[in-house]
Amino acid sequence: MAKPMMMTVNLRALFTVNRNRQARWGSAESHPIAKATVEIEGTSAKTTTQTYGNAQLDVSELASGDYILSLTPDAGNLLRPSQEHVNASDGNMTDAPGTCRYRPVKFKLSISNENGVLNVKSANAFDEASHGVAFIHSPNQLLIDWKPDWIACRHSGTRPAKVAPTIVLLHRTGGATPGSAIDTFLPAPTSSHYLVDTDGHIIKLVHEDLVANHAGTSWWNGQNRVGNVSVGIEIVNAEGDFTAAQYDAVIRIIKDLKLKYPGITRHGIVGHGEVRVRSDKNLTQFLKQPTKIPFHDLTLENRPGCPGVFFDWSKLEEQGLSSKADAALFAENKLGQEYGGYFQDNPYAKLTNITTDDKVLKKDKTSYGVIASLQMDLSALGYSINAVDGVTATGTYDAATQAAVDRFRRRYIPGAVKTNTALSPIFDRATAIALKRVLLDRQR
Ligand SMILES: [Zn+2]
Repeated sequence: MAKPMMMTVNLRALFTVNRNRQARWGSAESHPIAKATVEIEGTSAKTTTQTYGNAQLDVSELASGDYILSLTPDAGNLLRPSQEHVNASDGNMTDAPGTCRYRPVKFKLSISNENGVLNVKSANAFDEASHGVAFIHSPNQLLIDWKPDWIACRHSGTRPAKVAPTIVLLHRTGGATPGSAIDTFLPAPTSSHYLVDTDGHIIKLVHEDLVANHAGTSWWNGQNRVGNVSVGIEIVNAEGDFTAAQYDAVIRIIKDLKLKYPGITRHGIVGHGEVRVRSDKNLTQFLKQPTKIPFHDLTLENRPGCPGVFFDWSKLEEQGLSSKADAALFAENKLGQEYGGYFQDNPYAKLTNITTDDKVLKKDKTSYGVIASLQMDLSALGYSINAVDGVTATGTYDAATQAAVDRFRRRYIPGAVKTNTALSPIFDRATAIALKRVLLDRQR
């Protein structure tokens, strides 16, 4: 009798959390996954992976052709229903921090069988943002990197008074792989609910019915502790453009969240940088006493790059998932009457320095009140406009107001701000027109 024709599958996790709770992402840091079922659908080729993640499939009976290879984790590694994207609680919302879980994954397998000699020709996942990647290691050996769909991070319990979230906060990790973000989360009380990799793969970290500490002591639109009423999405991005697959993933998560929590409107989709947060100098105090930071120690000035200027909000606007500066709502020539007629008298005016309404005077020595009206408009959009209570117009073009102008420009005037770090606190005609348009859009 001929020797059986065998196919070897080596299965490994692309992600490791070591004893010191350090996260490692990538093939070099992988570890084997044992006890997973490996099966070629519709055939008798079926077995489970051994200690070293390897499985030997007898494929003697398989003719040349296309098949479906499916992998199913054992119960200890299998994703629970509550760990699926945007899902009801099954009463099992938590795991020990660092626990990774996987969902079953399928590959399109193409093989040839030439007189009992196996040649694996291709093994491709069904979609780009898939949960695993297969490599042909040799003609009869597949190496599969499996990506976790769940990595348990810390949470701060159920939402106070069980209020449903009304805000989705978007973040940029600042690192090139999910590993560096998880590394930050695992030892700390901070986390987010979702992490979106550069290939669009989504990793859930905290169930959305629980509070994840992704905003800390914070303030947005009159709301303190934004984390209590928001779902956080971290997007893996070191610097530069986000990928099409990431926009698709973020859009998918937000659409699912909106179905589950109708209180989330498109106006509740906000960038972390738009929210007033603790400054980094307060980190030590924050970690000791999370609620003890006074309002004036919060700032809008130190998170300009989250998600930053490379995040293209128009991708969300096209899907009806963001406020927008809709040109149809406010014609340029209507600006004349706004801001006390300031831009009518001074079409090229730019507020760039610390100045006050008292100093911005008309010929008849009465003030335009341009700064106070700017502040009220920014405040109506949710931005903090002063360092005392966030909402009272001061008539001073101070650091708080400038930061709010910078954040507005970053989001609603494409190309107006060039970098994630240098602020562009320019209040000019174009900014004023965009501001009026977004305000009217908010009222729709
Ligand atoms: Zn952030």
